[in-house]
Amino acid sequence: MINAFAAFEAKGELRPFEYEPGPLKPDEVEIDVQYCGICHSDLSVIDNEWGMTQYPVVPGHEVVGKIADVGVSVNHLTVGQSVGLGWHAGYCNECTPCRSGDHNLCANAQATIIGHHGGFAEKVRATANSVIPIPEGVELESAGPLFCGGITVFNPLVQFDIKPTDKVAVIGIGGLGHMALMFLNAWGCEVTAFTSSEAKREAALRLGAHHTLNSRDEQEIQTAAGYFDMIISTVNVKLDWNRFLGTLKPRGRLHFVGATLEPLDIGVFSLIGGQRSISGSPVGSPSTIARMLEFASLHNIKPVIEKFSFNAINEAISRLRNGKALYRIVLYR
Ligand SMILES: [Zn+2]
Ligand SMILES: [Zn+2]
Repeated sequence: MINAFAAFEAKGELRPFEYEPGPLKPDEVEIDVQYCGICHSDLSVIDNEWGMTQYPVVPGHEVVGKIADVGVSVNHLTVGQSVGLGWHAGYCNECTPCRSGDHNLCANAQATIIGHHGGFAEKVRATANSVIPIPEGVELESAGPLFCGGITVFNPLVQFDIKPTDKVAVIGIGGLGHMALMFLNAWGCEVTAFTSSEAKREAALRLGAHHTLNSRDEQEIQTAAGYFDMIISTVNVKLDWNRFLGTLKPRGRLHFVGATLEPLDIGVFSLIGGQRSISGSPVGSPSTIARMLEFASLHNIKPVIEKFSFNAINEAISRLRNGKALYRIVLYR
């Protein structure tokens, strides 16, 4: 039996839950969970915001732990190895995206916490190609958030071939945004944070921003007209997107990784005029996750975390719900 924490209804507290995982499949591994980050998507799934939650649900998809067991056909992972598991716990491996290395775009991928029990548990299982070894030099206790939030903001740098000479801005300095500032700074870019308060301004500069702009100050934003190659939005609220579009260079890109539920309200002329783009992307493929981990190791990138014991899981969740987390919460065993 696997001991876990599960939500039994929308917005419900997490309570201890035991399940029988059955025999380990040939292509699966079992991970002893040491740490697990809490992501906003865990809250969305607990609350059934997306209408696809299956209760009882064991959330947790920023897992760090050690391989406890490997299926008979798994050759590249060994018992005792430090690994991580993110949003996906398996892929179809047969579709064109999977066969092109874009597993993260697989329409039939298995989400770790939808119809599958996740990492708020002693153990979690996943197919081996969704489980990524953690290289030496990556601090384990803060690594969990890299596997969902981190890869979500790292992936666009790879997908859109961001160069060290590029000027990149980040909207929203929270769980995702603070990691975006660290990655962009280490990537060599000139980094700007859009912030809305003096406290956040100072934090953004500490985290890796070279400049800040007050996102509520129309005049200040106009000083950056035509300035950025890319803006990455990590927020999940509606903003005046046209205001941000004006700060993009010709061929610039406003890229969404934060899930704003309200439709975008975009003046199409600001896209046509400068041949600008609007885009979005999810987490990254296994190979991009591995690349991010090597980069994090080389540049000593560590998410800024608050630690809670698994026994304080409901307290940790309510801190995240109240928007108090600085910047990511990690549960430890
Ligand atoms: Zn596929
Ligand atoms: Zn997530």
